[in-house]
Amino acid sequence: MSGNQQPNAPNLLGLDREAMQTYLASLDEKPFRATQVMKWIHQQGFDDFDAMSNLSKPLRARLKESAAIQAPEVLQGQRGADGTRKWLLRLYDGNCIETVFIPEEDRGTLCVSSQVGCTLNCTFCSTAQQGFNRNLSSAEIIGQLWVANRELGREHAGRRIVTNVVMMGMGEPLLNFDSVVPAMKIMLDDNAYGLSKRRVTLSTAGVVPAIDRLRDNCPVSLAVSLHAPNNALRDQLVPLNRKYPLEELLAACRRYVADEPRRRITMEYVMLDGINDSLDHARELIACLKRVPAKINLIPFNPFPGTPYRKSSQARIDRFREALLNAGLVAVTRKTRGDDIDAACGQLAGRVQDRTNRSTRLRRAAVTSA
Ligand code: SAH
Repeated sequence: MSGNQQPNAPNLLGLDREAMQTYLASLDEKPFRATQVMKWIHQQGFDDFDAMSNLSKPLRARLKESAAIQAPEVLQGQRGADGTRKWLLRLYDGNCIETVFIPEEDRGTLCVSSQVGCTLNCTFCSTAQQGFNRNLSSAEIIGQLWVANRELGREHAGRRIVTNVVMMGMGEPLLNFDSVVPAMKIMLDDNAYGLSKRRVTLSTAGVVPAIDRLRDNCPVSLAVSLHAPNNALRDQLVPLNRKYPLEELLAACRRYVADEPRRRITMEYVMLDGINDSLDHARELIACLKRVPAKINLIPFNPFPGTPYRKSSQARIDRFREALLNAGLVAVTRKTRGDDIDAACGQLAGRVQDRTNRSTRLRRAAVTSA
């Protein structure tokens, strides 16, 4: 079934085990049916009830009548020179989101979106310029993994090649908690994708109360978009910092890993030339992270049209990283992937029917200042 109509029947694609059992119980079916249906959908990649041969014919007929399995529709697929793939997916309401697959030697990572656009207004991110339309449903979130497996499976003789998922596409996943968590539970479910919680990473700009809820509900790996070592600068780059300042964010990070001594939080730090990349900033960052089990991921800034920022030079990135390493921190520089098809961090745009008018305001501002 294509993604261009809203399912009025429950979309089974987005039901985690508990919800699937509850739904099937409403049809007087036993819990083990949930395992069967989830395997057909997520392991076999089926969206056709007729093909589910271990379900009785009457049950198949009832499912066809009362439920749907509906994934987003692939509108366009692109392939970068380094093998990175990007799909533009159309949702039932005409909005489009982007999903990116990044192949590496020892793994394949899918970068999944959680919202159509984003309500946060991080000044260095191109998704922010698109404005915001709505949250994705859990079916639309897991649907990105379902579609990627189907598209890639065709080329790889059905082999599963997505080994890792990062919730780092469009949107702020912790502002769509109630859809993101069921979708991640399906990723972790042995009867669905069976990924370990180390291989599923949620990246947040720092929604502090939701970090605690995540720890209690679905403690996947956590990445935090830090980007600045003090409140004054972070207030500018990540305006959410005005609501949840650094001290509170870092305390939430400590709580997140408190029960598991070997776990670390990934701190993302975009390298913006002359803005946050000096040795003084490195020293401040070292002080911030003294009591937080962390590894730092330096991300060379990926430019997009209209941005005032520039990428730090390799020499500045190396110097910054050295300072962190010398202080005993773990720091790596993220390799830029897929930038030739605008698939790199912060470049995902999709096609957002902006409800916030932010995109129009930004366009007007650009025209007036030109
Ligand atoms: N809202 C979430 C997840 C989406 S962004 C978050 O803020 O973490 C995924 C990562 O890409 C974040 O660390 C984000 O800050 C970073 N990013 C955004 N724009 C970027 C750009 N232009 N260049 C490099 N990284 C960028």
